[in-house]
Amino acid sequence: MGDHASGRGGLSDPAAAPGAPSPDPALIEAGRVLFAQECRFVFGATGSSAMPAETLPEVAFIGRSNVGKSSLINALTGRRELARMSKTPGRTRQINFFDLGGRLMLVDLPGYGYAAASKTEIAQWTRLMQRYLQGRATLARACLLIDSRHGILAADEPMMRLLDAAALGYQAILTKADKPRPAALAAVRDSVAAALAKHGAAHPEILAVSAQSGLGIPALRAALAAFAEVAPPRRPR
Ligand code: GDP
Repeated sequence: MGDHASGRGGLSDPAAAPGAPSPDPALIEAGRVLFAQECRFVFGATGSSAMPAETLPEVAFIGRSNVGKSSLINALTGRRELARMSKTPGRTRQINFFDLGGRLMLVDLPGYGYAAASKTEIAQWTRLMQRYLQGRATLARACLLIDSRHGILAADEPMMRLLDAAALGYQAILTKADKPRPAALAAVRDSVAAALAKHGAAHPEILAVSAQSGLGIPALRAALAAFAEVAPPRRPR
C-alpha cells in the first residue's frame, strides 16, 4: 500500500487549486476508494506488438518528457514502483497499461519533445500514438499534462493535433502546480484555456495538480473515477 495524498486532504481537499471547482464529496470519496485499489502492470505495447484486448475503460496520460507524468501516476496510485517501471530503459518508448482494481486501465503513453529525438524516432512515436488513439473503443479520456510553469509549448501542438484527429475527449492537467505563485498559475490556466478553446475535443475543465504537495490529486482521482467500471457489491460478512 502506498501513501495516498487524499489521506491528507480528506473529503474537502484543502489543497484544491485556486479557481478550481470543488467536486462533490461523494465523487472525491469514489476516487479515493478507486485509487486505493491494487494497481498492476499488465502490458507494454511497442511499435510492432499488438495492443492488449479492450477489457476495461481506459484513461491515458500524455505529455512532454519531464512534464511530471511518472510522478503524477505515482501520486494518484500511491505506488512508486509503477512509474519507475515505465521509466526502465526500453519501456519509455512503449505504451504501458496498468490495471487499477479491475475497474479502470491507466495507460501511460510515451513522452514526447526530446530535443535529441531523431526523425525516425519521432515517426515511430507518431505511428504508435496513432495506432493507439484511433479506434480504441475503450479509451474514455486522455489527460494532456502541461507543466504549469511553462503552459502549452510548441512541442505539444503535434500531440494536440493527434488528439483532435482521433476526436477524443481530452483534459488538460497542469502539473507541478506547487511551483508557480497563485497569480502565475491563474495566468497559465487562462492561457491554456484560450489555446484549448481552439481545439474542439478539449474538455473545458482544467485541473492543476502537484505530485509533490498533493494539490488537486483527490479532484483528479474523482474526475477519473467517473470512467471506472462500477465496483462489485460488497459481500455481506
Ligand atoms: P516525466 O518524464 O514526465 O515522467 O517526469 P517525472 O515525473 O520524472 O518528473 C520530472 C521532474 O519534475 C523530476 O525532477 C520531478 O521530481 C519533478 N516533478 C514532478 N512532479 C512534480 C511536482 O508536482 N512538483 C515539483 N516541484 N516537481 C515535480
